Amino acid sequence: MIANPPVTRSKFRVAVVGSGPAGLAAAAQLNKAGHNVTVFEKNRKLGGLLRYGIPTMKLSQEIIDRRLKLMKDEGIQFLTNQNVGQNLSLEHLFSYDAILIAIGSTKPRSLPISGHHLKNIYFAMDYLEEAQKCQEDGDNAPGKAYDKDVIVIGGGDTGVDCIATAVRQGAKSVTTLELLNKPPHSRPVGNLWPQLSRACKVEYGHADVKAKFGADPRQYNLLPKEFLGDSSGNVSGILTENVEWKRDATGRWEAKESNSEKILKADLVLLALGYLGPETDLLDSLKIKLNLRSNIETPRGSYHTSIPRVYAAGDCRMGQSLVVNAIAEGRQAARQIDEDLMNSSCLAGPGGVIPLVVQAGAA
Ligand SMILES: Cc1cc2nc3c(=O)[nH]c(=O)nc-3n(C[C@H](O)[C@H](O)[C@H](O)COP(=O)(O)OP(=O)(O)OC[C@H]3O[C@@H](n4cnc5c(N)ncnc54)[C@H](O)[C@@H]3O)c2cc1C
Repeated sequence: MIANPPVTRSKFRVAVVGSGPAGLAAAAQLNKAGHNVTVFEKNRKLGGLLRYGIPTMKLSQEIIDRRLKLMKDEGIQFLTNQNVGQNLSLEHLFSYDAILIAIGSTKPRSLPISGHHLKNIYFAMDYLEEAQKCQEDGDNAPGKAYDKDVIVIGGGDTGVDCIATAVRQGAKSVTTLELLNKPPHSRPVGNLWPQLSRACKVEYGHADVKAKFGADPRQYNLLPKEFLGDSSGNVSGILTENVEWKRDATGRWEAKESNSEKILKADLVLLALGYLGPETDLLDSLKIKLNLRSNIETPRGSYHTSIPRVYAAGDCRMGQSLVVNAIAEGRQAARQIDEDLMNSSCLAGPGGVIPLVVQAGAA
């Protein structure tokens, strides 16, 4: 691929805060429309969760770097180690003609049970980011999971990435705690295509553990009740309770504790319990309006925030999602910014299914 910079430049300067897929997609489109784009990134390298969330066995860093080089060659300015609102002032930010906030949604959900302050209990994202940075630095020191009994709490995609990373770091054992019942092997009655399948899925991390240790890492129907520690303040295990899921009189599922406790040994615990919304430091300083789910509020189908000239796109607007959705958001936010600056835009509109127009009188 070769760089294709715009032939002419507009007089407008646009700031993009955050270099994840939403920020990068928006920057590429705004630059294509001829605006002068600067991307501010608080981390030491660009890419957001593409670089420091999704592990390299799923997404090679070379792919990110190849695209970034192209974007730099096309004239986009990238500034790293710029934490907007901290070491880069809001005054400077508002010197731009338009500002796109694309800061992601990485505020982690915690598990405030007894012992949660013990050492070697980490949020999944902190663990994954550190692992990626060690790899990036060519650091050959053993990773955090080396020779440890690792327990991952939370069975979503982030949990699977933690499992797979721990296996590669040489963990002694890897277990995942799941609160829910084990899903059935095949689609349950009524769960027909194209609905998302509710059958039990074997993700790559589960397959890795089975290949290395001979068994799937998932233990179902377990409620973590307490983190246990040793005399040095390190986590040494988790006290769990078996739960059974039963339907109540109204048909809703209810967890019933069965008074059967067990202790699972752990010297590294990773919390992958989902995300509560974007980090709030910058949003608080901006006094930007949030919605009930703690994401940046925008009118339906629009990327305008409660502050004039400030737009939002990606996970910070829609909640944790997927790379493709973040890219789509960034592209459409760019189009809106271009339209507002120029009163029209040649940037591509949303894709999707084109509605079939039935001609009157057609058979
Ligand atoms: C562990 C993990 C694995 C995932 N795996 C997949 C997958 O396999 N496939 C998939 O499609 N999706 C995956 N996702 C989801 C996907 O990565 C996100 O939906 C996507 O990256 C969101 O893009 P974004 O640009 O909105 O935010 P992010 O990628 O989170 O980027 C936000 C950027 O903003 C920067 N930032 C924040 N605050 C400031 C500030 N004040 N100043 C400057 N910069 C700031 C951050 O440092 C970050 O670089 C995964 C997510 C996680 C957590």
